[in-house]
Amino acid sequence: MAYTFSGGLDLSSSSRIPNGKITKLPDPGRIVLRAPDDGVTLFECAVSPGEAVAAYQSVGSFIDRGDVIPVYSGIAGRVSEILTEKDRTVGIVIESDGSGRRAELAGFDGTLDGLSPEMICDILKNAAIPCRGSAGWIFRRILATEGKTSRFILNCCESEPGVTGRRARICEDPGTVISGVKLLMRALDVRRCEIAAEKDSPVCDVLLPLIRKDPLFELRKVKRKYPQDEELSLIYAVTGVRLSDAGHPERSLCCVIDAETAAAAYRAVVYGVPYCETVVSVGDSNVICPVGVPVSEILDYCSVDHERAERIVLGGLLRGRACKNADEPTDNLTDAVSVIYAKDGKAIPEMSPCTHCGRCVAVCPSKIMPYYLAAMSMKKKYRVCADYSMNACTGCGCCDFVCPAYIPIKKLIKQAKQRLSINTEE
Ligand code: SF4
Ligand code: SF4
Repeated sequence: MAYTFSGGLDLSSSSRIPNGKITKLPDPGRIVLRAPDDGVTLFECAVSPGEAVAAYQSVGSFIDRGDVIPVYSGIAGRVSEILTEKDRTVGIVIESDGSGRRAELAGFDGTLDGLSPEMICDILKNAAIPCRGSAGWIFRRILATEGKTSRFILNCCESEPGVTGRRARICEDPGTVISGVKLLMRALDVRRCEIAAEKDSPVCDVLLPLIRKDPLFELRKVKRKYPQDEELSLIYAVTGVRLSDAGHPERSLCCVIDAETAAAAYRAVVYGVPYCETVVSVGDSNVICPVGVPVSEILDYCSVDHERAERIVLGGLLRGRACKNADEPTDNLTDAVSVIYAKDGKAIPEMSPCTHCGRCVAVCPSKIMPYYLAAMSMKKKYRVCADYSMNACTGCGCCDFVCPAYIPIKKLIKQAKQRLSINTEE
């Protein structure tokens, strides 16, 4: 029997196999690198307007709760603008010069067995490797486990329709993923890794020959269900531990690392490659793009008509968020761009009052009360939302998907979290 969790959505009919090889976006005209709009992270600029930069060059830093994390350019060009908001620097714009010039990279000069956990953490921090598939930076997730990790899970699942980059990456380069996992196991001081993959996924066929005779690895076949690739759902499926706070999965003493993060960690340690490119899924295609590229450039490359789009979504249709316009840049966690067209001229339906049908409760993997949290958020009762476990909401969007009243439940819960964290309560 396959491992699974309660709630969620069966979207197996809409999950597709990626189309062919991952391709690389041709040199885009420009990129925009900016601090996340979380009210916490600051951008410290290390370049001046007009200055030439190479691909893989550090151009500044994110100052994130005391941590200084370098920001790298994914293209060669010139700094054309320093972006400011309310008298503080929030990012930069780099115009490509088409040269493709790259900064010199230096990997770890020694045998990997000689790397201590601290050295690995330092390299991952300096290479700005994000923890894709879960919030935050990989070095911080490793440190948060305080050396007490009892189970290490490699997340090879991918259950959101329209997002196939992880599967494509593993199928193209499984050796790098497994080597990255071994490095991270060293950083976490664990001796065993459970690899979680959907039971019918091509990933199982690709990884099995590499791990079959290796006592470090065990394959856990999970049921194909959305959001099985979400960290809390995966921890529950594999270990039976249910967490009440999406922000602190390490309390389960499990460390979940996704396959792309493992591969990025290996490239950072061995070749010195910093994180400034992501695999973005568009329809059936997967494209390697520099972080900060305007969404319109990716859609044009994939021949997707965005002029007629009713809505462009940064991410998959369930977890993503609507773009303000087609020039919005990607960030280091962007895994897909989705486009919604008005069907037969019909507009996206308007929200109507909650009918208390209970469908949102039935599908919620976090076992909270989405309809109640949405209602309290609308009334600006953010403290009540906190009392009713809004922090366990992972933003999976299952509730939105099934709500017959088209209530934007996920957005309302996110709004409550943000408002409470910046103390504009009730
Ligand atoms: S699914 Fe929508 S209409 Fe039904 S209880 Fe939840 S919020 Fe209300
Ligand atoms: S309330 Fe949050 S966790 Fe529950 S279904 Fe909605 S988005 Fe997912």
